[in-house]
Amino acid sequence: MQVTFNKKYQPDLGSIALAKIAGVASNGAKCLHQLARLDMNIERIRERIRKSPLRMTRKRDCLLNALLTLDRPVSVEELRVLADLPPSDLVTVYRTIEAFSGIGIVQGIPLESGGTIYELTEPGDHHHHLICRVCHKTERLDVCMGKELEQKAHNLGFRDVTHVMEVYGSCKDCE
Ligand SMILES: [Zn+2]
Ligand SMILES: [Zn+2]
Repeated sequence: MQVTFNKKYQPDLGSIALAKIAGVASNGAKCLHQLARLDMNIERIRERIRKSPLRMTRKRDCLLNALLTLDRPVSVEELRVLADLPPSDLVTVYRTIEAFSGIGIVQGIPLESGGTIYELTEPGDHHHHLICRVCHKTERLDVCMGKELEQKAHNLGFRDVTHVMEVYGSCKDCE
C-alpha cells in the first residue's frame, strides 16, 4: 500500500489536481488505514479481489487506493485525476470501474443530471444515499423500503427484481 494524501478534499477538479497520491515507504499501510473510510471493511474488499478472476495491474491498484482515500463518491474523470493518471487513461479508468462493479466492490450512484458517481462498497452491502446535487457530498441512508416494492414486483410475475433509489437535495454548505 502506497497512498498518502497531502490535502483535504475540495469538491472541484482544480483542487483535486492539487491532491497528490504519492508513494511512501514502510509506513504506507498505516497511513492508508488512517485515511480510508472507517465504515468499511477494507480487508473484505481486498479478499473479494483476491478470490475473483480480476487481474490487478499497477493502474488498477492505483485506482483502488485512490477510491480508498475518498470520503464521497466521484465521477470517472475525478477518479482519473485523483489517481494521477493522464487523460489518455480515461478508458482504462472506465474499464476498471466496470470490473470493480462486476465483482461487487464498487457501486454506481446515478445523479439527477444523468451522470454517475462511484464509491467503494463492501461485497453484499446494500444501502441508499442522500446526495448533495451541488457538491456530491453523500450520506449513507441505512433504510431500505425496496423489499416491499420488490415483493409487489414478484407478485406481478417479475423475476430477478432489483431496485435503485437515491435521494437528492442541497447540503448545508451548498444552500
Ligand atoms: Zn453540497
Ligand atoms: Zn434498497
